[in-house]
Amino acid sequence: MVIMKCKGRLIGLFRQEIKLILLKNPQNISTPPKKRKYSNEFLKYGFSVTGDEDCPKPLCVVCGEILSNGRMKPSLLMRHLETKHPTYKQRDISFFH
Ligand SMILES: [Zn+2]
Repeated sequence: MVIMKCKGRLIGLFRQEIKLILLKNPQNISTPPKKRKYSNEFLKYGFSVTGDEDCPKPLCVVCGEILSNGRMKPSLLMRHLETKHPTYKQRDISFFH
């Protein structure tokens, strides 16, 4: 019974400690930045998707280059298409299907 009491007290102390840490560092409890999700819209920029569900990455269907999750933005995908594949820019979306 003494051991049980001791354990309970330790856990209690541990919880209190976590509470204090959270109070001291409120930024620690904020949720991590959300990962960008793939949208079918990106296909018109010539991008498919690769990686896992939690961290999808845009995959260029023209050159096979995989960009980082942070670059999963229409403007950045468009820039890739414009700079690396200017000839594909004017193609219809159906070209990529
Ligand atoms: Zn490319």
